[in-house]
This record gives sequence, C-alpha cells and structure tokens, in this order.
Amino acid sequence: MAKRDFYEVLGCQKGADDGALKSAYRKLAMQFHPDRNPGNEEAEHKFKEINEAYDTLKDPQKRAAYDRFGHAAFENGGGARGGPGFGPEFASSMSDIFEDIFGDFMGGGGGRRSSGASRMRGSDLRYNLEITLEESFEGRTVEIDVPTLATCETCDGAGAKPGTGTHTCRQCNGHGKVRAAQGFFTIERTCPVCQGRGQMMDQPCTDCGGQGRHQQNRKLSVDVPQGIEDGTRIRLANEGEAGVRGGPPGDLYIFVSIKPHQLFQRDGADLFARVPISMTTAALGGEFEVPTLGNARAKVKVPAGTQPGQRVRLKGKGMPVLRSKDVGDLYVQLDIETPQNLSRKQRELLEEFARLETGETSPTSDGFFDKLKKMFEA
Ligand SMILES: [Zn+2]
Ligand SMILES: [Zn+2]
Repeated sequence: MAKRDFYEVLGCQKGADDGALKSAYRKLAMQFHPDRNPGNEEAEHKFKEINEAYDTLKDPQKRAAYDRFGHAAFENGGGARGGPGFGPEFASSMSDIFEDIFGDFMGGGGGRRSSGASRMRGSDLRYNLEITLEESFEGRTVEIDVPTLATCETCDGAGAKPGTGTHTCRQCNGHGKVRAAQGFFTIERTCPVCQGRGQMMDQPCTDCGGQGRHQQNRKLSVDVPQGIEDGTRIRLANEGEAGVRGGPPGDLYIFVSIKPHQLFQRDGADLFARVPISMTTAALGGEFEVPTLGNARAKVKVPAGTQPGQRVRLKGKGMPVLRSKDVGDLYVQLDIETPQNLSRKQRELLEEFARLETGETSPTSDGFFDKLKKMFEA
C-alpha cells in the first residue's frame, strides 16, 4: 500500500505551523486511540499513521527533509517506522510522542505554558457481566475484578519520584522556547528538551515510570438492581482508568447480559414457559405445580377441554419491574402430548372412544370437515 502524504494524514497544509500540526495531531490521536477503539483494526492503522506523520513533522530537521524529498528521505533507516502491527518499537515511540503532547513532568505552577494539554483523562472501560435470570429476579451485589490503570500510590499520581522536585529547564531557562539561527533569520521554536513546559521533573517515579498510573486489578462491587434486563449498561462514574499524571479518571461501563434460562423465556417483566400435559389431563382437566423464580412454586389449573397452545396466566409470578414495585406475570403454555406406544387395553379403549365421538366432543374439527364437504359439493 502506498504511503499517504504526512500533511494529508494530519489534514494540514504544507506550510502549517507547529501549533496547527500539534493540535491536528492531538485531535486525531484522541479520536483513534486504541483504548477508545478496542479491536478496531482500521483505527489502529490510522492511529499509527497519525503518529508516524507527526513524529516526522514535529522535528524541524526531519520535516525539512520530508518537505524536500518526501517519504524517500527516510527509506534507508531514517525516522519513518513501517511494518504491520503494534510492535514494542512502535509502542515506545508512541509513548514518546504522548509524552511530548500530553506530558507534564511537574505538578503545576512554574513556567507552564498551557494547562489544557498537560493532564490526560483516563480511558473509559467496558466490563461484560453475565448474570442468571435468578440474579436479575433477586437483585444482588456482584464482585468483579477489573484490569485497569490505577493511580500510582507511590507518587500519588503526580509522576515524580516522592521527595524530588522540579527544576528549570537548562536548555531554555524556563521560557519554553529556544532560538536558533538559520541563515539570515532567527527562528523561535518550542524547547525540545522540556517540550515547552519550561520545567523538568528531577526524577520520574520508579514505580510508574513517570506516568502517575500503573496496571492493576481492581476489585469492585456492582449493585445489580432487581429486574435488570439483558443488554443494560451500568455506568460507574470515575471508575475507569486513572488519568495520566493526576488527570481525571475515565468511567467504567458494565454491560449486563442474562444467561438463557432452562424453563423461562422473558419478555420485559413477563415470563413464558411451555409445559407438556397429557391428552387425558387436557380433556378431563387437572392441576399441577410449576417452579417459579425465587425458589417458589405455583399451581396451574388446567380447565377441562384445554386446546393445544392454550395459555394459563399466573398473575404476579413474573419478573420485578426495574425501580418499581410492579411485577410481571407468568404465562404457562400448555402443550398437549398425543399418547404413544399404547398397550392393547389402551388401544381398545381409545377405539371405543372414537366410536362414541360426536360433533359435541370435537366441535372444531367437525366444523372444519363440514366446510370441506360443502366445498366439494359446490
Ligand atoms: Zn508513580
Ligand atoms: Zn526547555
């Protein structure tokens, strides 16, 4: 695949100044960051492309070379990084750039140039939680283990080694900008040592490498309310990844799914179950018990002359309605089983019964065959 023009990748004009490139990069990097697009290969590719483009254009020397020679400038081991995937080399170059853009090696104050870009909000996280229908019926507290980036306790999220301070950048004397002579001109540009912050951290925290956060498994308890439905999303504000160097944390989203139940299907607050009954129970009527949620039982009355598929409604035996005192119903559908493997005696009795069948005992089929008869006669 041909490499896209770096300016085009960032959506900038060729003559764009450093600030314009930086803000274009920042916007795109946030949009396509892999943490925000998990499993999205296209976003991963774009993110990589954006980083490569900015990595080259932020450096005045590389940029000059690129402007003159295009991609050919880096073909023999220059600044460009190619190859598929998200290798460790790329990951480290990525974090370098992130340091440049979002990094802030000091807790605040001093000669900081801008405040907005320094601390980064942590990513939102998604956690898939599968529960049973019984758990939705009862509501409960579920303990979950979330792998996340948590605030580093050693440096309290600041990123600096405890007890160490910050010092004024020696390169720019705290101005955040340096001047360089180029031909007749003196050009002022962002200090490459402190990235324009004017201050440097004396020593980064050794536990988090100066990020102010590190990988950790966090135990959380989630309140699953009674009556929660499949596909519900629970948002836990500020329980996502910790921000970079004291930035605000992201949110945690819990996606709840409910395992299929052996007996019950659910539709909103109502439950449905299919129960087979014998032909004789259907004809003569009867009674049986079904288990209901919450370890209870309910009586189902079968009226004499029940037809296949007929439903019996058990009021208030369904699911609780979320954040309400209402409760749905349970519908029991009666499936009538035709007897098989008859004994001689049973067969004789049924044959006897068949001889006694009249239009009274099977009104539906009698009416149906009546209609057919009229059709043939016409
Ligand atoms: Zn730390
Ligand atoms: Zn500096």
